[in-house]
Formats: sequence, C-alpha cells, structure tokens
Amino acid sequence: MKYFTAATRLLRHSSNRRSNLQLLSSIRPSSSGHSYTSLRSYEKFMQDDCFHRKIMVKNSLRGSGVGILNCLAKFGSDGIRTHRRNLASTTSIPERNKSFATINSDDISYFNKVLGGRGVVQDEEKLDDANTDWMRKYKGSSKLMLQPRTTQEVSQILDYCNSRCLAVVPQGGNTSLVGGSIPVYDEVIINIGSMNNILSFDKVSGILVCEAGCILENLMSFLDNEGYIMPLDLGAKGSCQIGGNISTNAGGLRLIRYGSLHGSVLGLEVVLANGTVLDMLGTLRKDNTGYDLKHLFIGSEGSLGIVTKVSILTPPKLPSVNLAFLACEDYLSCQKILVEAKTKLGEILSAFEFLDINAMDLVLTQLDGLRDPLPSSKHNFYVLIETTGSMESHDKEKLEAFLAQAIESGLLTDGVVAQDINQASSFWRIREGVPEALLKAGATYKYDLSLPPEKMYNLVEEMRQRLGTAANVVAYGHLGDGNLHLNISTKQYDDNILAKIEPFVYEWTSKQRGSISAEHGIGLMKANKLHYSNSAETVQVMAAIKKVLDPSGILNPYKVLPNSVLSQS
Ligand code: FAD
Repeated sequence: MKYFTAATRLLRHSSNRRSNLQLLSSIRPSSSGHSYTSLRSYEKFMQDDCFHRKIMVKNSLRGSGVGILNCLAKFGSDGIRTHRRNLASTTSIPERNKSFATINSDDISYFNKVLGGRGVVQDEEKLDDANTDWMRKYKGSSKLMLQPRTTQEVSQILDYCNSRCLAVVPQGGNTSLVGGSIPVYDEVIINIGSMNNILSFDKVSGILVCEAGCILENLMSFLDNEGYIMPLDLGAKGSCQIGGNISTNAGGLRLIRYGSLHGSVLGLEVVLANGTVLDMLGTLRKDNTGYDLKHLFIGSEGSLGIVTKVSILTPPKLPSVNLAFLACEDYLSCQKILVEAKTKLGEILSAFEFLDINAMDLVLTQLDGLRDPLPSSKHNFYVLIETTGSMESHDKEKLEAFLAQAIESGLLTDGVVAQDINQASSFWRIREGVPEALLKAGATYKYDLSLPPEKMYNLVEEMRQRLGTAANVVAYGHLGDGNLHLNISTKQYDDNILAKIEPFVYEWTSKQRGSISAEHGIGLMKANKLHYSNSAETVQVMAAIKKVLDPSGILNPYKVLPNSVLSQS
C-alpha cells in the first residue's frame, strides 16, 4: 500500500503514461517476494508472446470442475455430510405426486431391452452420487439411473415413462446450485453423459454441432485446436455438460463479451415427454420462420424436454489475452471502474468480475495453495478484468491507458497484471474458487440475483446488519452483467437464520425489479418463489406451456414452477 501511494502521487506529476508505468515498476519491489508482478511489470508482460499464445490453452484449465468435485469427494464423507440436512427443512417441498408410478421389475426389463443391457444403473454407490446435489444440500431417493447413447433411446425411454406415468429427472454434470438436477423423490434419473460426440465443426462459420452430453471443458479443448473458443466459460466447466448449460441458460465469465446462450445457440434437438423428437437443429444465423421454439428449452431446466443435440456459434480464439487483478477501496469505485472499462477497453473487454473482502478472505483461508496477489494490505473490493483482442499492440495501448488513468484518478488502490499463464490461472482460481471455499466453510444460503449494479451492494450491507455476527455474508459475481452472488455462510443450517434471510432477500430484489435467478435457474430451491420476479399472468402462461408439452408432468416434477400453479392446471 505504501508503495502504491507513493506511485500514485508520482503519477499525478507526470503526463507520460509509459514512463509512469516504468516508474511504478521501480517503486514497488517485485510484489513482496511473490512471483506476481505489479502493474509496473506491465511492459514486460505485454511483450511476452509466449504468454499470449499459451493463456488461451491454460484458460481452459482454470477452476476445473473435475478438480473441485474430486476434492469434494475426498472430504465429503465427513465434512460435507455433517452439514447435509433433509430437503423438508431447507425449503418447502411438495408431497410426492401420487399419480406417479413406482419402478417395478417389468420396467427394468424394458429399459434393459432398449439400452441393450448397458446404462441401466441400480448400483447404490453410483445412485448415491446421482441422488445428491453439488452443494450436498439436497438428496433424492431414485432407485434407477438410465444412460442412453442415442436420441432414439431417449425417445423410447420417455415414451415408455410417459405411458407408465413414471416421473423423470434429466441430469447432466449434476452441478446445479439450486437442486435442479437431482430427484426429489424416486424419479428415474436420465443422464445423457454418454451422448458426448462432436458431430461437426465448420471452420469458416465457427458453428459447432455436438451431442448434449459433451462436457464443456472438452468442447473448449476441441475448439482450442481449431482456433475457436466456446462463448461461455464457468467454474464447473470440468463437469457440466453443454446440454445442462443450455437447460440452465448458464451465464458465466464470458457473457459480458459474447452475450447469453439465447444468442449463441442456433439450433437444438429435443425429445418431448411423450418421446416426440423435435428436430430444430438448424445451423443458420438468420431464420425467421414462425415461433422460434428452441428458446423455450434454453433455461427451462429439463421441465419441457430433454436436449439431445446442440448447434452453437463459437467465436474465434484471439491471440492477445491480458488479466489484471485490481483492488478498490469502495463499491462506488468498482462501479466507476466498470463504466471506465466499458468505455476505454471497449471491444476488448472480455470479463469483469468482482469479489469483496469477505469472499477473498474465505478463499484464502479455505483453499490450499492460493496466495493473495496483493499481499501488502487488505482491500475492501477486488476486481478481475480480462481483455481479449486480436492485435497485441492495440490491446496494450488501451489497457495501459486505462490502468494509468484509473490509478491516477484514485479508483484503483492497487493491482497486478498477470505476467504468465500460471499467474493468470492463480488469479482466476481465486475468483472461481469461491463456491468451493463456501462449501468447505460449512452451510451456505446461496442467492444468485440480477440487480441494478448501483443498488447491488446495498443488499449485502443490509444483510450484514440483519445477521450481525451469526453469519458471514460473502459477495462476489459478474459485476459486468449486474449479477450478484450473495452467499450467507454459517457453520450449519439453521431455520432461525433462514427466517432472517427469506423472504427479505426476495422482497428486496423484487422491489428493485431484479431477478431472483440471474443464471443458476429456479430448480427446487426457488420453485415457490417465482412470483417475486414474474407476474401471476406470466406464471400462468408458463404453466400452460408445460401442460401442452408435458401433460402428465413427468419431466422434472416439483421444479421451476410453483406447486400451487401446477396442481391447478
Ligand atoms: P445439471 O446440474 O445436471 O442440470 C441442471 C438443470 O438442467 C437441471 O434442471 C437438469 O434437469 C437440466 N438438464 C441437464 N441436462 C439436461 C438436458 N440434456 N436436457 C434437459 N435438461 C437438462 N452457472 C452459471 O450460469 N454461471 C456460472 O458462472 C456458474 N458457475 C458455477 C460454478 C460452480 C463451481 C458450480 C458447481 C456451478 C456453477 N454454475 C454456474 C451452475 C450452473 O448452472 C451449472 O454449472 C451448469 O450450467 C449446469 O450444467 P450441468 O450439466 O451440470 O447440469
């Protein structure tokens, strides 16, 4: 901090940006003995061709979900399970729908016949994993998981389940944070992870067609070799599947640059509850031929059909990638930096993420092998800014001007720019490690809200006041998209704490005309809260659509729509 203050003072007396950065470099010792470099090493960093080439590969490794899940598996049997509690006490769960049948031996024989004797899972250990959500918060009691390999098999399974009135839950990588991907009772789990083939890739248009069970990280690696990237990236990439991403309309780190999946997904193949296959697998950018039905399935969380194939527009991989880890003293400065970044970095801005001091402390305490990139003092807020562009010198000039001005104006109190891919990975690991750190810390009340950025942090402060020392209120998220991840961390779940959080958090969000689900979806957790973000009329139309596409309600029951509305329709 001392060095930064000195640097800022000196900067104000100099008009030459380039020499300012060199000056800073000489003022601050090489980041307190750490291998990180400060903003002052920027010149060297920008000249590092090797970095610019390699970061694209390395980026795909950041925060791999596989690693996260492995780690959970290791401590899950004692640490996590201590915090697990019954569904009934975490949210109001409707009674099991009595119209649903239960599995019998004839059903098993039929599924064995359809799947040729493979992919009919009744093994208890495997079922235990598939019955349990990523947060170890919800647990169903399914006795059967099916793993089809073709659309035809999915169609036959659904046709049969529909005729027998067997409820099903579509499952991808099971990384849902809202209890969307696990059975609530004994629903048959249909996991399409075995449908994981890439079907075609057009190098000119960048259009990828693949099966829905492809793991996001595998698609990223494939595209990397082709000179393209996926338009979305998220911490669960090592486990989540593209079908799951589409079904949750996942946002993630690149949304600020490439927009939502409603823009990138060009076509889908979907199997309806009665086994009908809807072939909407177009690869056209422009196609105004009536209702664009694919959008119904993007974000419908497996409640309207099972996505089996996907056509998606992918952006080209650009050679120049930079990542800065920056500190601000107050939330207003974070907002101002966002506006400045959008204006000054313009088309090269590819991520704008933030975390507050509580999130930073939690990650550094809970996760092994992470270091504070700005160790000389604590800061109230941290911002990660990534730029991605096609011309190194152009990007360099823009970033340089942006950082110099932000320092000079006092919006930034400290910062470092990644000098190589390892540093970039370690910066991303801090931001992407927050969900894992929360899980390790104990119980988490997790809220994923869209709010006007200027109001966002007021909610965090009000929540801290309400809860006092009873909980650690942790805030982070995709500030560039107006998406706050508000997490309330406690040793264990406690209904008294929950009563202080809900319905307050939903009412507060509703008053701001925000959304109670920015990107994670509604799932089981928020099915009865939908009215906070949607009018009664809108929810009725949703229920009517559900009734048309899934008249018996076998697809992902108890999720997305409020039970009261479903039982009426
Ligand atoms: P699952 O969790 O298996 O399922 C999710 C929902 O989709 C369920 O309702 C399920 O029934 C349905 N579904 C799954 N596959 C299909 C299919 N083929 N057809 C129809 N329905 C299907 N989300 C974000 O948006 N942004 C983030 O930055 C982000 N970061 C995360 C970080 C971590 C560490 C974790 C654990 C999760 C994160 N998530 C994030 C949550 C996110 O929703 C999921 O990671 C991902 O999109 C879900 O994919 P999945 O394959 O795991 O689906």
